[in-house]
Amino acid sequence: MPTFSIQTLGCRANQADSEQLRQILLGAGFLEVPFGSPADCAIVNTCTVTGEADRKSRQTLRRASRQAGTVVATGCGITRRGGLQALPGAVLKLAPESREQVLELLGASGCPGGTALRHGLQAARSRALLKVQEGCDHFCSYCIVPYVRGRSRSTPAQALVEGARRLEEAGHREIVLTGIHLAVWGRDLPGRPDLADLLDRLLERTRQVRFRLSSIEPMSFPHRILERMARFPDRVCPHLHLALQHASDALLKRMRRDYTWAEYDLLARDFLGSVPGACLTTDVLVGFPGETQADFEVLTDRLRTLPFLHLHVFAYSPRKGTAAALYPDQVPEIIRKTRSEQVIRLGERLARAVRHRFRGRVRPVLVERAADRAGEWLGTADNFLSVRLPGPPALLGRIVPVRLGREEDGLLRGLLVGEEFALGR
Ligand code: SF4
Repeated sequence: MPTFSIQTLGCRANQADSEQLRQILLGAGFLEVPFGSPADCAIVNTCTVTGEADRKSRQTLRRASRQAGTVVATGCGITRRGGLQALPGAVLKLAPESREQVLELLGASGCPGGTALRHGLQAARSRALLKVQEGCDHFCSYCIVPYVRGRSRSTPAQALVEGARRLEEAGHREIVLTGIHLAVWGRDLPGRPDLADLLDRLLERTRQVRFRLSSIEPMSFPHRILERMARFPDRVCPHLHLALQHASDALLKRMRRDYTWAEYDLLARDFLGSVPGACLTTDVLVGFPGETQADFEVLTDRLRTLPFLHLHVFAYSPRKGTAAALYPDQVPEIIRKTRSEQVIRLGERLARAVRHRFRGRVRPVLVERAADRAGEWLGTADNFLSVRLPGPPALLGRIVPVRLGREEDGLLRGLLVGEEFALGR
């Protein structure tokens, strides 16, 4: 049986693309093996959002060349404006929009495949990504994505409903809606629907899945979403990954983010106050050009005022081709690193406080994979808390009510308190 591995760098849009590639290869009879194991084919989904992302993509491709007969590079790094024009070794390029042609590409390169039966060892089929939007028109000053992924394009609702139904029929219980700039879905479609309209269609035409929004920008955030979360608590996950990046208004302006801390704070509090059980996670970009010690203190002081369950912290690194790479007041690397470590530690403290608040409560948990201890399982609650629970293998892939207990290594221990969740509406 031919084997493949995939390594995905960068954002959730890349994760969604990788998921599609994975399904094509599994469907053709390939067996997935962990990245790092010998394989007939290794796919590296590259990211070019910063210079550091380019470096990591290149390094991953070199690693893949040592493990696999055929290496395929896809993602933003290989597009016209991407940073990986000269690829290491004999690497095949697959444009992100040509994912469907992966088998032809492999066939033409002599990579084995296509005949063996589909294997059942692939990762649990519980959660799936559904990409609803591609590209971005926003041009944040640090970001190369609008140059490499082009203008914002939304997939029409009907195609997404069909995609969601297929995922539901394939046994997925959670569908994550992803996009490069998810908040603007629908703006380019007739009638200019928004994400709340899309959710209405998806909820009507599916029964056994819950929906989660992936990373979303506060600019153009469709407020009606909050009402859907509150009204359909078992079908729309009460979780937002609302990308903040910074809390100093001066820095937000230089990043061209088009909101102030006060506006972000208001939106976050609206969400937390109107959606029961809600949890908030975010991205933070530290060490952006011009960030003074005072700006950094504003950032950490303000982060402390919201109950973040997770801070995804990036230390800024300049990306050629973006406006910010030319800003004169770059922050020295050692300061960027020290500041990002400080914010990571702050994030851990904030997360512990949020987890503590949920102890003793019952949440619907999607059981996703086996834990390292026999007879234990790992899962994700609707509000994104990570949970470890004991139980039979039959729990895998199901949404079950779990009472949350004490914290252990960043997870909450849970106990099953009932039967599989029947999702309403
Ligand atoms: S919204 Fe900003 S950070 Fe996000 S993809 Fe667009 S330009 Fe990049």
